[in-house]
Amino acid sequence: MIMYYDNLIFEISQKDRKGYSLPNYGIKQYGIPKELLRSEEAILPEVSELEAVRHYTNVSFKNFGVEKGFYPLGSCTMKYNPKINQDIASLPGFNLHPYQPLSTIQGALEVYYETQRILSELSGLDTFTLNPYAGAHGELVGLMIMKRYHEDRNDTKRNKIIVPDSAHGTNPASATVAGFDTVEVKSNEDGTVNLEDLKSVLNDEIAGIMLTNPNTVGIFEKDIYEISELVHDAGGLLYYDGANLNPILGIARPGDMGFDIMHINLHKTFSTPHGGGGPGSGPVGVVDHLVKYLPKPVVKKGKDGFYLEEDNETTLGQISHFYGNFGVVIKAYTYLLSIGKENFSNVGKLSVLNANYIKESLRDLYLLPIKGVCKHEFVFDGLIDKSDHVTTLDIAKRLLDYDVHPPTIYFPLVVKEAIMIEPTETESKVAVDNFIEVMRKVAIEAKENPDLVKGAPYNTVVKRLDEAQAARKPIVKYRDLLK
Ligand SMILES: *Cc1c(COP(=O)(O)O)cnc(C)c1O
Repeated sequence: MIMYYDNLIFEISQKDRKGYSLPNYGIKQYGIPKELLRSEEAILPEVSELEAVRHYTNVSFKNFGVEKGFYPLGSCTMKYNPKINQDIASLPGFNLHPYQPLSTIQGALEVYYETQRILSELSGLDTFTLNPYAGAHGELVGLMIMKRYHEDRNDTKRNKIIVPDSAHGTNPASATVAGFDTVEVKSNEDGTVNLEDLKSVLNDEIAGIMLTNPNTVGIFEKDIYEISELVHDAGGLLYYDGANLNPILGIARPGDMGFDIMHINLHKTFSTPHGGGGPGSGPVGVVDHLVKYLPKPVVKKGKDGFYLEEDNETTLGQISHFYGNFGVVIKAYTYLLSIGKENFSNVGKLSVLNANYIKESLRDLYLLPIKGVCKHEFVFDGLIDKSDHVTTLDIAKRLLDYDVHPPTIYFPLVVKEAIMIEPTETESKVAVDNFIEVMRKVAIEAKENPDLVKGAPYNTVVKRLDEAQAARKPIVKYRDLLK
């Protein structure tokens, strides 16, 4: 049998082959009582150390990550995660037990406290909690705070949250989980909130609005002051979805725009790894009068050092185990310090420059529904020339053959053939130019040989999947090998 590197590790297994050798310490063997032994041998692969290393190295190449190639996944900020973040998070001093006495973890609490403080400074919200595990978890915490705020004022009619039709899917989902009904507001042609539509839905049942600015199509909400005034005058609060803070970093602050509550994704903007399910961190910031509701523990600074405020009666309570994902916090703190206050605006400006450069370089071939300067990302509506019926899905699949991760597609829903491109600031001009060349090549192929693009990808481990079947009846087992 010829061995391929994508064999299962079980297929290359050979009886009694060992991948380890233990030193001989001359320790006497002890028999394990028979009733404690398994009756059948465990099914385990038996390979040498080199075979194990080769196997996992080859498996890792099947995965696509920002360290393998360009990854312009709109709304996800797949930026480079500098290795120093990981090095610092792995320092032995950070290997802590959550029940350690506070006097022995003062340094860790300082990192925690300082991260909260810097996030406040960057966002303009007064106080942050680092407890939530992810963006959507942060949204839930923020909405629970909103709920408590209205309840404490005996304003119990307010059970509706306004969400624009271009919002990230987690917004209406979180509102529902928090026990609110959602009310949709329409967008203008440029993706901004339609003020007339907003006015028509504001009343004394509105608890608040969830917005992201720039919005999901990358356009800055220029009427944000007016929106803020309208919602506040109607008795509601403003929630800022700050998952992607890249475009405004060091340039504009949600707190200054009138937002009362927000979350930030450390695993997007603040350069900690994400994808594949975590670990994440979704800090929540609030204005002063909502601080009393923040979940516990709250890390505070006293004159004798850092301590945890545990017994505040107005807190929401605990929403995570212990302090949240502290490892992620260390990585984000390292990133914050290594960029430095004076350089944060470059993150914003370069991510915006890269996005606009790509947009302008491709708009003669791809349909640009929303013109003008975008922020960190933008949306094409498929190819301009649709006569050959090559869809956004086909284009995305063909990009795989050129070692490019496809952008986000068919989101936001307001653009029919949406391709949402976010290059981030960590890509060089060479990488960005290469992407532009690939996109132009695919557009030309779509005209000259549409069937080629419709059949893509060809160079990948699995070829074109039946998307519906893959979602409904996923085959998650390699083969029936272990029967
Ligand atoms: C990623 C994202 C979220 C959700 O964050 P998770 O950490 O995946 O839960 C929410 N809103 C926007 C705009 C996002 O891009």
